[in-house]
Amino acid sequence: MVLTPSDVPTTTVCIIGAGIGGSSVAHFLRKYYPNSTPFTKILIFEKNPVVGGRMATVTIGGHTFEAGASILHPKNLHAASYAKLLNLKVKQYSSKSPSLGIWDGNKLVFNSVNIATSSSSCCNIPLIDKLGFLATHVTRLFLRYGVRSFLKTKNLVDYAVERFSKYYEGGESRPVFETVDDMLKWAGLYHLTTTTLKDELLDAGSSPLFIDELVNVITRVNYGQSVRMSALAGTISIAGSSAAGVWSIKGGNWKIAAGLIKESNAVLRLNEEIDGVARVGDCYELKSTKGKRYKCDVVVVATPLDELNIRFTPPISPIPERKLQHTYATFVWGLLNHEYFGLKCESEVPEVLGTVEDPDLPFSCIAIIKEHNEKEFTYKIFSRQPMEDTLLDRMFSVRKETVRKNWAAYPQYHAPEVFAPFILDGRHLYYVNAFENAASTMETSAVAAENIARLILSRYFKAK
Ligand SMILES: Cc1cc2nc3c(=O)[nH]c(=O)nc-3n(C[C@H](O)[C@H](O)[C@H](O)COP(=O)(O)OP(=O)(O)OC[C@H]3O[C@@H](n4cnc5c(N)ncnc54)[C@H](O)[C@@H]3O)c2cc1C
Repeated sequence: MVLTPSDVPTTTVCIIGAGIGGSSVAHFLRKYYPNSTPFTKILIFEKNPVVGGRMATVTIGGHTFEAGASILHPKNLHAASYAKLLNLKVKQYSSKSPSLGIWDGNKLVFNSVNIATSSSSCCNIPLIDKLGFLATHVTRLFLRYGVRSFLKTKNLVDYAVERFSKYYEGGESRPVFETVDDMLKWAGLYHLTTTTLKDELLDAGSSPLFIDELVNVITRVNYGQSVRMSALAGTISIAGSSAAGVWSIKGGNWKIAAGLIKESNAVLRLNEEIDGVARVGDCYELKSTKGKRYKCDVVVVATPLDELNIRFTPPISPIPERKLQHTYATFVWGLLNHEYFGLKCESEVPEVLGTVEDPDLPFSCIAIIKEHNEKEFTYKIFSRQPMEDTLLDRMFSVRKETVRKNWAAYPQYHAPEVFAPFILDGRHLYYVNAFENAASTMETSAVAAENIARLILSRYFKAK
């Protein structure tokens, strides 16, 4: 059924959160209903003074770096189409491989520093670098971990990427999903949320050493979690670390959200934190911490509810309890102290230093993100705990500037995962970030947002 603007009354869609999820809902509502501007008003509320959410940059030593979401996969087709639509400049990551070390708290159990001398891009080791590294240093890695482990892991990653690409199929062959479970089952990905990455890789025939060292490094870098996380999120994290052609937006990935909001002609209310969503007749009333009230026909929550204090009236059914993994991103302009890592000289320190899973280790990874000169670098550290000054003073022989960011970063992944509903109240209150239990990436947010936009169109406007 095709609706024309005169068929439907003026409608206000309110979106809470101006990250890639919220801005994508606005984009897809307009895209699938291009003539809706006259009768659909889209209001986006953002508690921060800037858009982008977990796509944010930091500036240190006069240079700007991604502090949160950094890397996009070459098969992230929504992100790629956004970049094209919005005319955003793209940065392709070099295929040059950084040297990699794996630290167990006492020693480097693996160090490629003697055979690789290139610069790394960031703590989110792009998978091109991760896997490019593997290709370059194939003999050494194959000797330690065995060829079979790499092949089996690649098969799993290829399977997940191929299955995920079903979400780009046209609307005629792709249903609108009312639940995350249905969405994952339809693509053939659900079973990967019922098992851990470790078990999935062991079943496939990868070696325990490979999983406990190399794969743990990747999951700790990308999600601050171990290989005991659910297999789907774990596989997606490996995919992001092993593909050739990873990329980002020049100047910051947050530009995607800014561009989509503008392009979709949405009204953006910055510094406006929503703390109440009340049902009033057939509509909703949003209340902000400024005491302002907004009448909405449809409400979209485009942020994780887990650490929020939004009061729903009447209360929504309890959603499955989910803890967020906090990741502390610490940026240091200085020089790492090689002695801290038991190394003889500075030149033995690898450009990317990952860690095995050990709760006592103070960080998950350290990577050089900029080389200023031989004695001065900018490093990005990810850790599960704050990096205290006393620790940093031991780890660094020179520390000129330090910038810290505490992220409520992504869900703590478990198998089996239990998903919150996309539709929170059985009416027109929607939740994009229910999908984050599958995996948390810019693209998965966009894919979930596209489904929410289709749900709104089919359920509210009945425009299937
Ligand atoms: C350290 C880190 C590294 C990452 N690396 C990558 C990567 O390399 N590649 C990748 O694809 N993904 C990466 N991710 C994941 C990615 O950032 C997220 O999956 C994605 O950005 C989530 O987008 P979102 O719009 O769903 O949520 P968010 O980006 O969190 O947006 C939600 C927005 O809602 C706002 N908000 C919250 N509550 C309210 C309220 N009550 N009222 C109004 N506004 C509110 C928030 O301020 C925020 O702006 C990383 C994440 C982190 C933290």
